Formats: sequence, structure tokens, C-alpha cells
Amino acid sequence: MNYYPKHYCGIFGVKDMPNAAELAYYGLYALQHRGQESAGIVSTNGKSFYEHKGMGLVPNIFTGSVLQALGGNTVKMAIGHNRYSTAGGSEIKNAQPLSVECKFGPIALAHNGNLTNTRPLRAELESHGALFRTTTDSEIMLILLAQSDASSLDQAILDMMERVEGAYSLVIMTRDALIAVRDPHGFRPLSLGTLDGNPVVASETCAFDVINARFEREVKPGEVVIFEGNKTRMLTAQNQSEKKPERSFCAFEYVYFARPDSIMGGRDIYSVRFAMGERLANEYPIDADIIVPIPDGGVCAAKGYAKATGIELVDAFIRNHYVGRSFIKPTQSERDKTVTFKLNLISNLVRDKRVVIIDDSIVRGTTSRTRVKRIKEAGAREVHCLVSCPPHRYPCYYGVDFPDRSKLAAASHSTEEIRKNLGLDSLGYLSEEGLVGILGLGHCTACWSGRYPVTSRDATPM
Ligand code: SF4
Repeated sequence: MNYYPKHYCGIFGVKDMPNAAELAYYGLYALQHRGQESAGIVSTNGKSFYEHKGMGLVPNIFTGSVLQALGGNTVKMAIGHNRYSTAGGSEIKNAQPLSVECKFGPIALAHNGNLTNTRPLRAELESHGALFRTTTDSEIMLILLAQSDASSLDQAILDMMERVEGAYSLVIMTRDALIAVRDPHGFRPLSLGTLDGNPVVASETCAFDVINARFEREVKPGEVVIFEGNKTRMLTAQNQSEKKPERSFCAFEYVYFARPDSIMGGRDIYSVRFAMGERLANEYPIDADIIVPIPDGGVCAAKGYAKATGIELVDAFIRNHYVGRSFIKPTQSERDKTVTFKLNLISNLVRDKRVVIIDDSIVRGTTSRTRVKRIKEAGAREVHCLVSCPPHRYPCYYGVDFPDRSKLAAASHSTEEIRKNLGLDSLGYLSEEGLVGILGLGHCTACWSGRYPVTSRDATPM
């Protein structure tokens, strides 16, 4: 059994709002791009907890009657979760938020990220009699909280942060408190907002916009923010076991995962991707007739490239918006089907043209090859490809489900070999210096560089 399915997720929480479950629904809807396999909401009126989880997309799971069953206008607080997982973990039992009844009362928890010491912790907890209901790493955190010897939940959370390693952004809900937690490296995003003066927490700020909440700030790496009654407390992880952890926010959030209308690190994602395109123009000036973005991830970078070079931007690929993101489908056969349906080429627009396509990444290379073939068959004279990040050579242990190294095109092939294999006239990746130049320091770049901020104790040797 796979005890540590990686999950790339969206989390949301809101407190002191009469329609909390409905607000959580809208928040999860805005975060749908972060996970499309399952979703859940847990709400409370300060006494009882209500819970609903299901497989599939947010609007299909939370119908009007379900939102009523989540307490309607009687609940004041809710947390929610959108989940993506690997194939082994795609089951309703792993849907979140997870909840437990313990000495601190009922606790619900929603997690974005991936722990890197799941195996030893789970073995230890099981040897002490812990019974797991899921195969998620998230449940380890819930059990550490529930079984804590600490006299307060505040201390139990700090103790738990001492034990777990890796990536975790959390929203936790008790009968009276909404709690936001971010791991000491700050791998995954987590932001705080306010709605009518009341606290809201979300993976991305786009979830604030849909409910007219105001973005206040990001949760700092290693910070615990507790909203209880009308007071807010801030705690900081002690990290006695590690030297001061380096801030290591996931650089791939900027390249691919986050929505362009979200703000991270004080900058909107759109502008960062635009700057990546400008930098690509600097690194790879190409004599071409048109630039064709691969939607959605390549669009902002293509605009930056077009502005910097003056070459016309042509939307030759039209996306069917009702098909999910292919990268985050768990199996290859699901991915293949999705790719075929997802993007359609307007052949007329590329015929007899020298084309530069701009994409956000080449992971396996299979989808890129299909697209290049279609452009060539439509009569393009030349097809060049520019990628708005460096070549992916290493797996991610912090919550992004790249395939293992054997399936990463750039792990075993040079750029020239990949170019030939994809049938391209030229291929260029944004340099690591270019990426760091745009983002600044304090980011994880391990899937490109192999420099892992935290060693995984779960990983099989590469
Ligand atoms: Fe993000 Fe890559 Fe680091 Fe994973 S390894 S956290 S995808 S930058």
C-alpha cells in the first residue's frame, strides 16, 4: 500500500460568517484548479460539526441541499479542501477535511503539501496502537494532535510541527477557533484575508476575490495563526531539531499551478509569468512569424515574449474549458484522453508560418510531441518551442505529483535529444538564473536543480 499519496490541493477556511459553508463552497470553487478528484467541507455552529465529502468537482458535490445539510445559515465557521492525489490515493476515504474527536473536542484539518517523514512516523504511531482510517500523511498530523500530551491545542500544534517534516499548509477548525499553519520552509502557499472584518484563510488569494474578502497577508513560514473568539494569536514553530529553516516557497506555483489572478510573494502571478516570457525573449531571440501560447500555463509568458520581440501573438490553440488539467490526472490513459479533447488547433492560423509555441513545462514530453505534430501537419514551415521554466529532471517530494525520474524527459535526455524527439526546429528552456532572477531567492527549485531543501525520508533512492 502506498502510505504517502502526494497531493496537490486547495484549502479554505472562514470564521464568524453566518453562511460559512456556502462561502467555503465559493472558495473551493475558485481553487478548483488545485485539485479535481475530491472535495469536502466541514462546518460548525460552535456545538456540532457537519461534514460532507465527495469525489469529483466542487459544483457537482455541493448542491443546494448539501449546503443546507452543512448547516445553512446556522453555522458560523467552515473549512474546505480540494484534493488531487496519485492513483493509489484516489478514494473517498482519503478526501478531506479529516476530523477527529479528542480531548481538545472535535478537530477538523485540511492539508496542502506532502510530508517527507510519513513512513517512520506512521510506523511509530502504529506500533503504539494508532489506527489509521486513511492512507494520507495528513492523518498523521491529526493523530499527533489528538494523542498529544500537551495541555493546550496551541502547544499540541507546536509539538506536532516538531515531529513532521516536509510541506504542509493547514487549516484547522475546532468548535471555537480557526487556525492557519504553514511549515517552517513555507513550501506551499497560504494567505489570510478578512470578510466584513472576519477571518478567511485560503491557498490562493483568488478565493478571497470571489467572496469579496480582502487579502491581508501571507501566513509566514513556521507561523501558526489562531483566530479564537474575537482575538488573534500568533505562534512560531520552535524548530529545535533543525537550524533556522530556509524559506523555500515552491517556484513551480509561479510557473504553472497558481491562478494568474492570485498574488504570491507580493506579486500577481500574471506579471511574474509575463516577466518569464520577456526573459525568454532575451535568452532565445527567434526569427519567427507568430507566437502561439499553449493554454493556460503558456499564455502570460507568451504575452511577455510577444511584447519583448514585437512578434504577433496568435491564439491558434483553443481550449475546451470543460476538460480538466491533463497534468493532474492520475493515470496516463486518463491524461491521454484529456489531452486529445482539451486543445484544438485552428490550422489556418499556422499554415506557412514560422511558429514559436510557448509552454509552461515539458514533463514527460508525450503531449508536446502530439501538439508539434499537429502544427506541422497543419502546414507550419518551422516549429520552435520555448518553455517558461528550466528542464524538469528531479521528482518533487513536497506535494507536486511529477512522475518518477525514469519518466521525466529531461532526466535522461539532453535538450538536443528532446528537440529531435519532439520534432522541433529549436527548443529552449528558461535558464535557472533567469528564473531566480525573476523570483528572487527563497524559493524551492529542486525539481530543476536537484537541491532539496528537506531530505525526504520517504523517497526511494533515485
Ligand atoms: Fe515546487 Fe519543484 Fe520544489 Fe516541488 S520540487 S516544491 S514542484 S519547486
